[in-house]
Amino acid sequence: MNRSSGDLIWTEDPPFAENARTAVNDAQLRRNLRNATATIRQRRAGLVAETPDWQELRHAGAAIKDEVLHHLDAYLQQFERNAIDRGAHVHWATDAHEANQIVTNLIQETGQEEVIKVKSMATQEIGLVDALAQQGISAHETDLAELIIQLSSDKPSHIVVPALHRNRAEIRRIFLDHMPDAPGGLTDDPNALAEAARLHLRRLFLKTKVAISGANFAIAETGGLLVAESEGNGRMCLTLPETLISVVGIEKLIPTFRDLEVFLQLLPRSSTGERMNPYNSIWTGVTPDDGPQDVHIVLLDNGRTNALKDATGRQALRCIRCAACLNVCPVYERTGGHAYGATYPGPIGAILTPLMVGVQHAPQLPFASSLCGACYEVCPVKIDIPSVLVKLRRDAVKAKPHRAEDATFQAAANAMSGRRRWTAALNAARLMRFIRHGAPPPLSRWTRTRDLPDPPAEPFRDWWRKR
Ligand code: SF4
Repeated sequence: MNRSSGDLIWTEDPPFAENARTAVNDAQLRRNLRNATATIRQRRAGLVAETPDWQELRHAGAAIKDEVLHHLDAYLQQFERNAIDRGAHVHWATDAHEANQIVTNLIQETGQEEVIKVKSMATQEIGLVDALAQQGISAHETDLAELIIQLSSDKPSHIVVPALHRNRAEIRRIFLDHMPDAPGGLTDDPNALAEAARLHLRRLFLKTKVAISGANFAIAETGGLLVAESEGNGRMCLTLPETLISVVGIEKLIPTFRDLEVFLQLLPRSSTGERMNPYNSIWTGVTPDDGPQDVHIVLLDNGRTNALKDATGRQALRCIRCAACLNVCPVYERTGGHAYGATYPGPIGAILTPLMVGVQHAPQLPFASSLCGACYEVCPVKIDIPSVLVKLRRDAVKAKPHRAEDATFQAAANAMSGRRRWTAALNAARLMRFIRHGAPPPLSRWTRTRDLPDPPAEPFRDWWRKR
């Protein structure tokens, strides 16, 4: 059942544990995930190894983002002033509904019914494409992977590579079935697939007058926005149309243009395993007779100030959406992104979603982790995801009473508070050896995926007494 909780669209039922069980039984999905994540992991590791000041860069990235988060109000106002001075219109959206309404109104004012889109997590988070469709506006994704997802009515499963769960044979089938201008003899050769998409998209680029984007960074000092991408589709969207509307999360700010020096080294190495992104497009307001002449920026909260209130969790707002944590996560590698049932999958999703919508609305996500710490090691802005997960687990337990668990721990505390009681408990445990692999409810929820350790045949106390 899909539903909207808070203003972040996500799926609660079936919850993560059930989704994961279905996903791990899909051998093709696991193969696709393993191959794709291993390739990106390897490329990233090679590039990090050749960057001698990698740890200093990580440290700088975290410090710059923390500076912004500590003075977010001031940096937002500085950004707004500078963007307006350079000819942009700045709008503020508290939640997804308000953001979608602002974007819909702006498009309707142009009289257009078709728009092109740059890949953007913020617009996915607010369900913009569906909201526009309800108002009769068609939004065409132009990123190749997003195009594949849109044509197949699928959902993204990865932050950077949304169609990572698809192999090229599946992509060929999707193009043939859903892209009306796909060539009949299309093969699954990657070049042929890219060429088919290129021809399809070029027609859209040349005729569409409104584009929608997100932004990787918003520069407070200048009022400019930056989009980093690999295919050039973003550059086409950002330069050809007459109207450009950018939906930007308020945490995307960086103080100065010079700070890009740090992030443009961290981001490409961590996300796609490249030394630099093939296309970095920066635009600052309106440049007369060059590019879009009607530029709008929608600054989006949608739960980010909730995350900011959480002293441990606010570091999640440093995230630059590189997806390095997804690529190393043993849970993500086996379940894929759909199992998380939220816009942001993987380790970052397991903390960001509960922080934004409230842990009571996403209580399973903080438990979707082995706490191995691999995500923290690769994170370019040093987000201590395991610590935030542990804190959110505590919040999740507090948010929902667990009577059986509370009673169990109370009984354990009583047993451990005296020697006689503890000895009696150990003897009882030996007698209950038979439930080791299948305890009765409600303990069965625990033993379904774990074996209780076998109590020793001879307790240490007996052994000690004998000797
Ligand atoms: S949490 Fe870190 S590693 Fe994960 S997507 Fe964000 S910046 Fe990248």
